Amino acid sequence: MNNPETMALRCAGCGRSHALDELAWRCADCHGVLDLTGFTPAMPKAADLATRRPGLWRYAEALPIFEPPGITMGEGMTPLVTTPGQPVSD
Ligand SMILES: [Zn+2]
Repeated sequence: MNNPETMALRCAGCGRSHALDELAWRCADCHGVLDLTGFTPAMPKAADLATRRPGLWRYAEALPIFEPPGITMGEGMTPLVTTPGQPVSD
């Protein structure tokens, strides 16, 4: 189970860690990109996915977000469309 207390944002340039509540998107020292550390996405079970509404929050366990707000604009799923001349696999 992921714990927000053990997660951090680590600078890819200098390695400085930033707490999640800093709400930083760049390193305060070198302006490097921040990578999320300490998070392991969980894969939702297929049976659970089948019962959920379409949209981003369907995959909440795989996102580094705790207590998802469930905000939606009614978005749906991206349909799969076959491409003529391309083989279809299962
Ligand atoms: Zn840095």
